[in-house]
Amino acid sequence: MINDAYAWIEKALTTIHKVDWYRSVQTVESQAGATIIIEGKSLINFASNDYLGLTGDQRLINAAIAATQEFGTGVTGSRLLTGHRQLHRDLELAIAAFKQTEDALVFSSGYLANIGTIAALVGQRDLILSDEHNHSSLKNGAKMSGAKVLDYQHNNLEQLRKLLEQNRLPYRKALIITDSVFSMDGDLCPLLDLLDLAEEFSCMLLVDEAHGTGVFGKTGAGCVEYFNCTGEPLIQMGTLSKALGSLGGYVAGSAELIDFLRNRAPSWIYTTGLSPADTAAALEAIKIVQIEPQRREQLWQNVKTLETLFKEKQEQFNLPISHTLSPIFCVPIKGAATVLTIGNQLKEEGIFAAAIRPPTVNTSRIRISLMATHTSIQLQKLVEILAEVIPV
Ligand SMILES: *Cc1c(COP(=O)(O)O)cnc(C)c1O
Repeated sequence: MINDAYAWIEKALTTIHKVDWYRSVQTVESQAGATIIIEGKSLINFASNDYLGLTGDQRLINAAIAATQEFGTGVTGSRLLTGHRQLHRDLELAIAAFKQTEDALVFSSGYLANIGTIAALVGQRDLILSDEHNHSSLKNGAKMSGAKVLDYQHNNLEQLRKLLEQNRLPYRKALIITDSVFSMDGDLCPLLDLLDLAEEFSCMLLVDEAHGTGVFGKTGAGCVEYFNCTGEPLIQMGTLSKALGSLGGYVAGSAELIDFLRNRAPSWIYTTGLSPADTAAALEAIKIVQIEPQRREQLWQNVKTLETLFKEKQEQFNLPISHTLSPIFCVPIKGAATVLTIGNQLKEEGIFAAAIRPPTVNTSRIRISLMATHTSIQLQKLVEILAEVIPV
């Protein structure tokens, strides 16, 4: 029997190959630190979200082992049925204390936190305003909510105001959604202005702190702290999988918001609770972030060092680096095929950096993200090799 209903898949794959959008995995054969092993070769890792170098930290590993020994490998059910442990609550209270919010709720991933929260907050009679550079989880959450979605140009407050003036009135509730640190460019959202607009037009405001938590702010609480907006009426979402070195997502905010999400967020209600190992590792990470500010200081020192190195090389090589304020640096490259070639050349020279292409972003680039555990020698090597490999 031949069923042609699946024939389109092969054609679709051919098209993906043709435009150089094809993706596949590569196996990392070591712990994911400042260096990693791929295909037997040791590479300096500039593609990690583990900003503080916590995934290999013995204290996180020990916490995960101890929790596994006490509670097992899984929690066997959703949080509302059999899947809730004191460990989950301890983590939620630690997140709330860290963010200085009334409460917090832990999801099984950041992606699920965004999807479930947006779907719980707004529906068909409501309006969402979304930055065009937002992460996929925010965009898909918006789509899935059934609300009317209007995209505004990246960080364009004038356009956002115009959209609100023209569209806010007929809708019941409205929600502005934005990354705090934009994941692919590393720039920040104008949080204070967004808060003002949210107040003026009676909108809720959700900020995605995936790349802010552990990195920005005096205590590492994120961009909300960095912008002195702690305590403002915000919905703060984030992930446990980047600077916190574990797995899972969270939402922090008012006690009422969290109570409501426990009752209405489908991606929290109908999925299995976070594993004891992930929960315990994240809890340990939050403690370390708070008691070891030197990790954050070292990360920011590395950002400064790399800025300086690029400036020095800029005069010689004219590298078109784009960088604003975060540990994320980008080198724009024309064309998906070229960026792939450059990614491979970097790998041959011992540098692992992400070659980012459409549809993830509109314009291809080599994306470099720094960790606290990179050495200045590793940063020097990065700049030297980029200057060799990148055509000017
Ligand atoms: C990584 C990321 C997420 C998703 O978090 P996961 O825990 O990996 O699912 C959400 N938003 C942004 C901006 C991210 O970078």
